Amino acid sequence: MAVMKFGIPKEIAGGETRVAVVPKMVAQLKKGGGDVLVQSGAGQAASYSDAEYEEAGATIVGDAPSLYAEADIVLKVQPPGMNEDVGKHEVEMMKPGSTFIGFLAPVSNQDVVNQMVEKKITSFSMEFVPRIARAQSMDALSSMASIAGYQAVILAAQHLGKFFPLMMTAAGTIPPARVLILGAGVAGLQAIATAKRLGARVEAFDVRPAVREQVESLGAQFVEMEFEEDAEAAGGYAKEMSEEFLLKEREIIGGRLARIDAVISTAQVFGKQAPVLITEEMVKQMSEGSVIVDLAAEQGGNCELTEAGKDVVRDGVTICGPLNLPAALPIDASQMYSKNVTTLVRSLYAEDDGSLDFEDEITQSACITHNGEIVNAMVKEAFQKG
Ligand code: NAD
Repeated sequence: MAVMKFGIPKEIAGGETRVAVVPKMVAQLKKGGGDVLVQSGAGQAASYSDAEYEEAGATIVGDAPSLYAEADIVLKVQPPGMNEDVGKHEVEMMKPGSTFIGFLAPVSNQDVVNQMVEKKITSFSMEFVPRIARAQSMDALSSMASIAGYQAVILAAQHLGKFFPLMMTAAGTIPPARVLILGAGVAGLQAIATAKRLGARVEAFDVRPAVREQVESLGAQFVEMEFEEDAEAAGGYAKEMSEEFLLKEREIIGGRLARIDAVISTAQVFGKQAPVLITEEMVKQMSEGSVIVDLAAEQGGNCELTEAGKDVVRDGVTICGPLNLPAALPIDASQMYSKNVTTLVRSLYAEDDGSLDFEDEITQSACITHNGEIVNAMVKEAFQKG
């Protein structure tokens, strides 16, 4: 591999504590003869010091502009944004023709993508890594969803004025909390496992029938819904369900809410608004003191009353709409993300000369811009639609 300089800047988005590469992964990046530049303090919020990066073989660079001026391949967690400290946008600081790899959310960041096209920046979006067996260790959506699922249960336990486990004490017996998980994908399954570990009685629902076995193998009850509709889309994702189906689904969920202490909702449809599964009316049926943690808050929420980034209390029910839960566990979240991004880098630059192989499914799917063009068909289409 040609000598490439990897740049690891300090994340600038509010509340972001993760860093794209942890010291342990520096050696992996240097394997092909590359250099790793780390902005001073980049790992601080995740408890990784400059000294640890240096010990691992990285070079510490004082500030963002100096880092971007040298980096051939920038590895980040969040999409590029305005760096208020230096008064410059991160894309503006990148070298023309350089490469960006990170969560890019290209459809909601059209300006950034257009700037990248203009500067002939090659970009890879972690969201677009295909969900195939070979790419599992690069799947940052899954690793971060798993953290969010875990952390959502911890959050629910913190807000619930009750124990999760069955408690048999001299002061009486307290039954276990009842937890309902809506959407049993990666986050939902981790939420089930975490709530079970804490001793709760867990039930779960998903539109994809294939999930039933996984739910049951974790010791949770699968909620029955006698209404057939094809729910499986490509890549293991769910389809957008009909309004008729959602009405029936809300009816079934509503019938259970009165005896549920905590709901963790994770239902999402890739690239669409999240389905509304809990209406304002349904919240009224819940007991005072119960909790909803809505992991779909960023996509509009599974509960009608969810406010993204806020905890609201309505009719005695706390509704949390957390954003970026992985940032609450920055040490492990950075370690997992770092493994994902480093494995992707090694896959993209498998050729000794550092060239990209666009015949490769992973390279082709994850690449958004290259050589002054948007090369991802789905993103191109979304831009044309406006
Ligand atoms: P996601 O975040 O897009 O959605 C979360 C869950 O919500 C999904 O399980 C979905 O079925 C469910 N959902 C959607 N609409 C719903 C509704 N109206 N009611 C209830 N539930 C609803 O999904 P995800 O967790 O990112 O992934 C889903 C699946 O993709 C995984 O469970 C897995 O089977 C597959 N996957 C495959 C790979 C791989 O092969 N490498 C990697 C990751 C995930």
